[in-house]
Amino acid sequence: MRNTLIIGAGGVGNVVAFKCAMNKESFGNITLASRTKSKCDTIAKNIKEKVGVDIATAEVDADSVEELVELIKQTDADIVINVALPYQDLTIMDACSQCGVDYLDTANYEHPETAKFEYKEQWARDKDFKEANAMALLGSGFDPGVTNLFCAYAQKHYFDEIETIDILDCNAGDHGYPFATNFNPEINLREVSAKGRYWENGEWKETEPMEIKQVWNYPEIGPKDSYLLYHEEMESLVKHIKGLKRIRFFMTFGESYLTHMRCLENVGMLGIEPVEHNGEKIIPLEFLKTLLPDPASLGPRTQGKTNIGIVATGYKDGKKRTIYIYQVSDHQECYKEVLSQAVSYTTGVPAMIGAKLMLEKIWWKAGVYNVEEFDPDPFMEELNKQGLPWKIKELSSPEELRIDE
Ligand code: NDP
Repeated sequence: MRNTLIIGAGGVGNVVAFKCAMNKESFGNITLASRTKSKCDTIAKNIKEKVGVDIATAEVDADSVEELVELIKQTDADIVINVALPYQDLTIMDACSQCGVDYLDTANYEHPETAKFEYKEQWARDKDFKEANAMALLGSGFDPGVTNLFCAYAQKHYFDEIETIDILDCNAGDHGYPFATNFNPEINLREVSAKGRYWENGEWKETEPMEIKQVWNYPEIGPKDSYLLYHEEMESLVKHIKGLKRIRFFMTFGESYLTHMRCLENVGMLGIEPVEHNGEKIIPLEFLKTLLPDPASLGPRTQGKTNIGIVATGYKDGKKRTIYIYQVSDHQECYKEVLSQAVSYTTGVPAMIGAKLMLEKIWWKAGVYNVEEFDPDPFMEELNKQGLPWKIKELSSPEELRIDE
């Protein structure tokens, strides 16, 4: 019997735990561990009620390699699925390589004191994993994750050479609050308030935050303002998609979200440097997180859909071609199934699928990898079976989907 250890009991951890329990034949004994054990216990209770499967729970401080090693040994884990925060990636990776156990995550390492994320330190652990005969799969969520696989799938089946990719992330969900984030507020606000960046002709080009706006017409949703952001999957895709001339990432934001964000930024509430308050040091962004609704609580109240996909252009048999691959999820449908809204759902399901393919040795090699380095076909098949069906369309050009530039 296999043993699976999930770390992190937020919105995404909830979905991963549900989905692993629903695929128990692949995951065996499941343990959900996090900093606050009571959150794991609530999820375990809900899984028992809805799915009829028992999962174990535990408390762990994932900033401590020693505590993690102890827990991995105790649970005799075959794989650790890290859905805590990006700050814990390196400690969890180190505990896994020390124990010779496979590792998977959905977001790349971010230093708590610098608003910067990159794969460098995780890729540098390739040697440790090879020596331990263990595998680490990085970025197996939706974006990064499924978007990388859409690119790999397009490359494998539709193109001899891909020239451009636009990744399009639209969340048209409405939770009824004036301002809330759909996943961890600290990580979310650090990402969207940073400078934009895209890759063109072999180099990174920087923009001011939210400087470039385009309107894309998302199927099943309609036209939405979409802003160019830097997003982590581009770092690995420029390495792995051969011949790529340009890659950009766009995310939709409503006017109200942007106005709140600008206002919070202007008064210093997005700062990550400690400030003195009544003789105590506080980090403004951490304090803001305390005030904002917990993303895990948005599930029951969020209505509407998400649509995330890629538009790729390039050549097949000497002819120019444009392919659009996308996935639409409905917040309420996700909630009905696993008690989480679509942003957590679309992240947690691919994390479970990546882990399933690793445990079943369909995707397995020792070392540290991004998802697009494996054959996309088995993953794409699982998406259709596990609640994230996708569609593919041939377009005359990207302009068929874009309303203005
Ligand atoms: P949440 O903030 O809802 O949950 C994070 C969980 O991790 C909480 O249960 C938290 O515990 C736990 N945690 C934090 N620090 C520690 C620690 N030191 N030790 C043990 N547990 C800890 O985040 P989400 O569920 O929204 O996101 C989870 C991950 O998924 C993040 O890394 C996020 O970046 C990633 N993500 C990836 C996406 C993708 O498409 N690739 C999209 C969305 C998210 P506590 O309850 O005590 O705070």
